[in-house]
Amino acid sequence: MNFNHLLTEREMKVSCRKRTSGECKWKPVAEGQATAGRNVAIPMLCETCGSRTSVFMHFSDYSKHQKVISSEVDYDKASK
Ligand SMILES: [Zn+2]
Repeated sequence: MNFNHLLTEREMKVSCRKRTSGECKWKPVAEGQATAGRNVAIPMLCETCGSRTSVFMHFSDYSKHQKVISSEVDYDKASK
């Protein structure tokens, strides 16, 4: 599963150590955490280069992605 669509092109370029956004494979490492103003912060990890960042989105947007994010996080927990 690819979660690159959660980040903007610019976020990927800025966040990624290797600056090769095309090859990066971002995935959520935990479920989103509510922040101020009904926003949600999702900690993300690039599997290609190990860079980390957090994606912020409005709760209404997060709710659209929540299911796949949860299943990815649960899958990751189960595989450890
Ligand atoms: Zn990367």
